[in-house]
Amino acid sequence: MKQFLDENFLLQSKTAQTLYHEYAKSMPIIDYHNHLPPDQIANDINFANLTQVWLYGDHYKWRAMRTNGINEKYCTGNASDAEKFEQWAATVPYTLRNPLYHWTHLELQRYFGIHKILNADTAKEIYEEATAKLQTKEYSVRGLLTKMNVKTLCTTDDPIDTLEHHQKIAKDNCPVKVLPAFRPDKAMNVDDVATFNAYVNKVEAAANVSVGSYSDYLKALKNRHDYFAANGACVSDHGLEQIYAEDYTEAEISNIFNKIRGGKELDLSENLKFKSAMLVEFAKWDHEKGWVQQYHLGALRNNNARMLSLLGPDTGWDSIGDFPQARALAKFMNKLDSTDQLAKTILYNLNPADNDLMATMIGNYNDGSMAGKVQFGSGWWFLDQKDGMTKQLNALSNMGLLSRFIGMLTDSRSFLSYPRHEYFRRILCNMLGEEIENGELPNDIAWTGKVVEDICFNNAKAYFGF
Ligand SMILES: [Zn+2]
Repeated sequence: MKQFLDENFLLQSKTAQTLYHEYAKSMPIIDYHNHLPPDQIANDINFANLTQVWLYGDHYKWRAMRTNGINEKYCTGNASDAEKFEQWAATVPYTLRNPLYHWTHLELQRYFGIHKILNADTAKEIYEEATAKLQTKEYSVRGLLTKMNVKTLCTTDDPIDTLEHHQKIAKDNCPVKVLPAFRPDKAMNVDDVATFNAYVNKVEAAANVSVGSYSDYLKALKNRHDYFAANGACVSDHGLEQIYAEDYTEAEISNIFNKIRGGKELDLSENLKFKSAMLVEFAKWDHEKGWVQQYHLGALRNNNARMLSLLGPDTGWDSIGDFPQARALAKFMNKLDSTDQLAKTILYNLNPADNDLMATMIGNYNDGSMAGKVQFGSGWWFLDQKDGMTKQLNALSNMGLLSRFIGMLTDSRSFLSYPRHEYFRRILCNMLGEEIENGELPNDIAWTGKVVEDICFNNAKAYFGF
C-alpha cells in the first residue's frame, strides 16, 4: 500500500515520478489570475491565526461545512476563530474524495511542514503550531508567496480602483511581481439601472472625465484602461454567464445609454445590445495594448436569495450553469478577428459539458501569428480538481496542442492555495508518464520534460511577456 500524500502522490509510474521531480517540481509559478487582496501584499501582513489565512473568504470550505451540518455561525458568523477552526477540522474527515481533502493536507505539508491528518483530535495542536509559525517573518504574505516560488501574479481589480496598493508593492522591490488586472464586469452590467448609474458616477470621478453621453463613458473607461496599463497591467478578465454578441449600431447604444442615465429600465434586447457593445470596446482596447483577455464563462451565481441577502455575493451560493456558449462566442471572436483586432484570449468554461466545444473553438482563431494565441484555460472553480483537470487536459490534447498550453492558475482568494499548481503538475506528469510507459508516447524524457516545463512556466512567461 502506498503512503497517503507522500512525495509520489498522484504519480503512478516511475516515468511520471521522473517528469515531476526532475522537470515540474522546481519550475517557478506564474499565477496569472487570482483574487488575492493587494492591500495585504502591500502591507506584507502576518495573519493572526490559521483561521484568518485559511477559512476567511473561502467559500469552498464554507460549502463543505454547511453540507456537513455546521451552523453558519462557524462559517461566516461570529464564532471565535478557534471555534471556527475546530468546526472545520471536524469537517475535514467528511470531505474525503473532495479536492478539499487533498488541498488541505498538501497546504499543511507545504507551508507548515505538518504531516498529520487534520481532524477533531489533531485540530488544537495543528492550529497552535501553524498559528505560531504565522507570526514569524517567514510567514508574512510575501514570505508565503516566496516559499511557493511565485514569480508573478495578477490580481483582479475594478476599473475604478486607485491601484494604490499595487503602486506601493512596485515601489517596495517586492520579490514577487504583483500586477493588477482589469475586470470591468460592473461597467457593463445594466441588469439593475440604479446600480449601474451609481457605478457610472464612480467611473466619472475616477477618470476625471465628465460623462454626459455614451462616447464620454467610453472615454472615461478607456482612461481607466490606460491607467491600469500605466500601472503594469497587461491582462483583463470578465466573469460572464455567456458572451453577448448581438448586432447593434453606435446610435442604438447611445440611445440605450441615455435611457439608462434617465433612470429607465431596459428591455431584454436593449440590455443584450449594450453588453455586446461594451464587450467589443473592451476587447479592442486589449488588442491595442497587446494585453491578454480572459473570459470566465458559465457560472450561475447567487442562487440562494435568502443567503445572498444575509451574506452577499461570493459566499458559496453559486453553481455550474447550462448557458449556450458556442454561437455567440464564435460571433464575438469572429467580429474582432475580421478586423484583426482579436487580442490574445483565454477561454474558461465552468460546465464540463462545454470542454470539447471550447477546445475546438480556440482552433478557429489560432491563426499562426503566434503559438497558442487563443487558449482553453485550465479547469476552473468546481473543475479545478483531479477529474476536472484531467478532462480539460484530455480535451485540449485531443483537439488542440497541449504542448502550447499556458497551464495552471489558482483563481483563489487565499495565500495558502498555491499547492494547487503542484496538484496540477502532478496530474499532468502522471498522464504523460503513463502514456510513455504504455508505449503511446516515445520514451523521450528530455523532450517530454521540456513540454512539462513549458506548461508549468515557460509558455505562460512567453504568452504574457513577463
Ligand atoms: Zn477568478
